[in-house]
Amino acid sequence: VIARVSLEIALGREFDYVIPPELESVVKEGCRVLVPFGPRHLPGIVTAIVSDSTYPNPKPIIRVISAEAVVPLPLIKLARWMARYYCCPLEQAMKTVIPEIVRRNRAGWLKRLYVKIAPFKGDLPRLTKRQLQVWHIIEELQEVPFQKLIELAHTTPATVRRLEDLGLIEIVPQTILRDPYANEVVVPTAPLQLNMAQSNALNQIVAALKETQQPKHIESITPSEVDAALAPAPVTEPEVTETSKPSTMPRVFLLHGVTGSGKTEVYLQAIANALAMGRSAIVLVPEIALTPQTVERFRARFIQGPHKTYVAVLHSHLSAGERHDQWQMIRRGQARIVIGARSAIFAPVQSLGLIIVDEEHEHTYKQEESPRYNARDVAIVRAQLENAVVVLGSATPSMESYYNARRGKYRLLELPMRIDGRKMPKVRIIDMRQVYTKDGYHPTISPQLHEAITQRLERGEQVILFINRRGYASLLECTLCGYVARCPNCSVTMTFHRSKDILLCHVCGETQPAPDKCPNERCGNRQIKFVGLGTERVEHILGKLFPKAKITRMDSDVMDRKEEYRRILGDFRTGKIDILIGTQMIAKGLHFPNVTLVGIIYADLTLHQPDFRAAERTFQLITQVAGRAGRGEFEGEVIVQTFTPFHPAIQFARRHDYQGFFERELQFRAELKYPPLTRVALITLRGRNPDKVHFTARYLRRTLEAVLVGQNIEDVLKTPAVCDFATPPLTTSGDVIISGPAPAPLFKAHSYYRFQIMLRTRYMMSLVDKLARVQAEFPLPDDVSMTVDIDPLEMS
Ligand code: ADP
Ligand code: ZN
Repeated sequence: VIARVSLEIALGREFDYVIPPELESVVKEGCRVLVPFGPRHLPGIVTAIVSDSTYPNPKPIIRVISAEAVVPLPLIKLARWMARYYCCPLEQAMKTVIPEIVRRNRAGWLKRLYVKIAPFKGDLPRLTKRQLQVWHIIEELQEVPFQKLIELAHTTPATVRRLEDLGLIEIVPQTILRDPYANEVVVPTAPLQLNMAQSNALNQIVAALKETQQPKHIESITPSEVDAALAPAPVTEPEVTETSKPSTMPRVFLLHGVTGSGKTEVYLQAIANALAMGRSAIVLVPEIALTPQTVERFRARFIQGPHKTYVAVLHSHLSAGERHDQWQMIRRGQARIVIGARSAIFAPVQSLGLIIVDEEHEHTYKQEESPRYNARDVAIVRAQLENAVVVLGSATPSMESYYNARRGKYRLLELPMRIDGRKMPKVRIIDMRQVYTKDGYHPTISPQLHEAITQRLERGEQVILFINRRGYASLLECTLCGYVARCPNCSVTMTFHRSKDILLCHVCGETQPAPDKCPNERCGNRQIKFVGLGTERVEHILGKLFPKAKITRMDSDVMDRKEEYRRILGDFRTGKIDILIGTQMIAKGLHFPNVTLVGIIYADLTLHQPDFRAAERTFQLITQVAGRAGRGEFEGEVIVQTFTPFHPAIQFARRHDYQGFFERELQFRAELKYPPLTRVALITLRGRNPDKVHFTARYLRRTLEAVLVGQNIEDVLKTPAVCDFATPPLTTSGDVIISGPAPAPLFKAHSYYRFQIMLRTRYMMSLVDKLARVQAEFPLPDDVSMTVDIDPLEMS
């Protein structure tokens, strides 16, 4: 019998090894083994057991590394799918699926010595006075950590060992769980009585859970199944209305509910139902929402009662030991609920029943390095493999998910009202084109926003202000010669950070001391203009406008320090801060009842990005931000400052009209054949010589065109690399629209020039297979590299 093994080192393929007879019973798929590779011994994972090898004489497996850390079979299949869909080597997908600490045995269980009373009969042997003292303590505690006993009894290990020799006690190693939430007290909660909309949603999810109760054994997921699950629904399909519900029950639900509409309560009760059926659940939340409060809500519900279970948590702040323990508890079925960020979608749960993706539109679900997967989409495929149900939840669903729900691929569940019947906050748009200061400039804070802040401060209420850029000014410009400070490595200007008095490149991190005069040698002018706003500058200006207010800034400059982040949020919650200024990262998930005003200083920053999703993002930002205001007793207000007040993203957000925005945006996407009507593959070529990168990109495009219409890549590559300079910017090859190469929006980064080719198709599975072949065979020059991003969210 042969085991197919994926090795840790990146070789882009698997290798075959013979399973020696004595190991036949232990070597399984998912098992970690040590194998010979050349002169070395390497660890690897068994990905398949086959009866025949294509190799002439495969070597035998040396040994099994750990029978305990077996990776569940569906996860191996998931890794295989990821490697194929996201165009990456299998071992890279494997590494993503199995955490480092498990793969490398970096951490094991933490064992501590415990002293336990031994069952003994008869009289106590004669003990010294000290021994007797220690004995009494043990007798009272029955069981105590060895070290703790030494401290408690002011004694020595030798004395305790002596009691063991006498047969009075046992000293045994015991496993200690490193629980990241061990010291937090949670108050158990009971399920709430659901309102109509909530129970309708819950009933449908439970019905789907019942339908998928039979475990299915899917060998692997076929391309057509993936396309059926992930591809956009055909345009020709009629929209679903109340009366035309499709007959088959989709297993993916989109729970569209405004902030505070009770989505989380629906999740909790759906999970309880899954547990009652003996199944487990995974809850994905954006990393930023992984605050203790979120986790606590889940723990509080399942800490006791009929569905009592440990709630495991997976996120980037865990220690290696904690991560190991959480992973093992999940794999052994001791933790049947897992909450976590992106990578928790790979949690090795047993009998998976339900996957919840909260805030499914969030871009943090997409990994920006290889494998460039989107956890939301992986969730849908994993559910398919394991016969589970998926609930995607959001107040502002992504265009992709809502489109699929409207066409019946997903089942749409709506929670249109806030639980408490409270109104959505009023959104006021300030047309900054009309607002001038005395000396003819546009001010940072409009009189309307100024007045609104003053009011809140007088009433002792709190304010949040957003500006989606950190630093003080986005560029420094000499007023005399026009010199602008640019990064030497990237095609962006250097941002001025006043608190550190430096110029910083937000792309590569290059820093320079801030100049006090124009660096242009022939100029040397002392007057330098700050152009463009950032959080620091808003903080500075507010400090001048409201000298008595307590103002704090929170952005990733601060967020680097985890403790600082917690402290600021704590201070804000307890009212020690009046005005909190931050980037978009504080827009999500936070709940502060005393916040009655939220201001967006400059909405255009998001709106005018070179990305077809810019409008969608702006709409989401305003709506999410509005969700932060007025969550307490007082009504909230949102003020949006913008130079493009009539843009649909801003107008629909003002009216809280998700559907209106969706229809409008869909028209635009349809005209340009962008997602959700298609899916995108983005190829980026990088190199230090821009001409060479451009030439390679053009040759690549020609190759792609030929391969996509069915030509054999070897034949295509045989023809000389002459590029037709007049290539039309857009052509259609087969089912694929190709555009580019064009300089990337971020043309130069880290000293590399970047060109992009964009491919759009409805059937990604057939495209990715062709792309993989091109990726393997295309003769890239040594100094040009290529990345393929499937379903990219950042087009930069
Ligand atoms: P969302 O997740 O949509 O933002 P939540 O589930 O957090 O909404 O609900 C908002 C608030 O309403 C929470 O404090 C929650 O406890 C409460 N809530 C939710 N459902 C109900 C219900 N059926 N009855 C009473 N209160 C509810
Ligand atoms: Zn740079």
